[in-house]
Amino acid sequence: INLSLDCIDKDLFREITRGGDIDKVILGIKLAQKENIPLKINSVIMQGINEKEIIPLIEFANDNKIDLRFIELMPMNVAKNFKAVKEDDLKAIISKKYGALKQIDVFEGPAHYYQVENLSIKIGFISALSHKFCANCNRLRLTSTGMLKPCLHYNSGVNLNDLLKKNVTDEEILAIIKDTIYHKPKNHHLENEAFSQKEDKSMSLIGG
Ligand code: SF4
Repeated sequence: INLSLDCIDKDLFREITRGGDIDKVILGIKLAQKENIPLKINSVIMQGINEKEIIPLIEFANDNKIDLRFIELMPMNVAKNFKAVKEDDLKAIISKKYGALKQIDVFEGPAHYYQVENLSIKIGFISALSHKFCANCNRLRLTSTGMLKPCLHYNSGVNLNDLLKKNVTDEEILAIIKDTIYHKPKNHHLENEAFSQKEDKSMSLIGG
């Protein structure tokens, strides 16, 4: 299970999540660990919002032996109002406190991982802008409305739900899925404000 957790501070958590209770999250983590369910924590650090939570998040993850991944904020929809703390700045903060970061090979999703001198957990980074990883992308996304998106950051896709309602055969649907894969965009254009095919829905609406 991947947990989104952007801070440990109770009040800030309530503010960021508009009413959330960190104690319930921590209880959920303990219960999942009791059942031996593997967990990962995903944190998005934003300038002026939760920068002070970087070390508390690492301490929490390390104490609970859960790998932690920092996801760089992507400038989409309301997220454009905030500024990301970039991977290199996070690494500087981490190495100052915990010692050297050594990159390790973990072939698992878009994150690249580090072992840190004085931490027992792995720290990962998913940095769509500062360390673009589209060249290795093998992802498609199927939204809750049935839209198959070849790239998270394009406003294009094919609605499989509509096709199913039209009694299109399985073979035809398979051909459409293959075609979507073969025409997968090479990379996102998040850094280009003027790019016309850019997805601008919030990440929560496209399953991010
Ligand atoms: S190609 Fe699209 S979905 Fe794949 S990593 Fe890049 S932005 Fe994400």
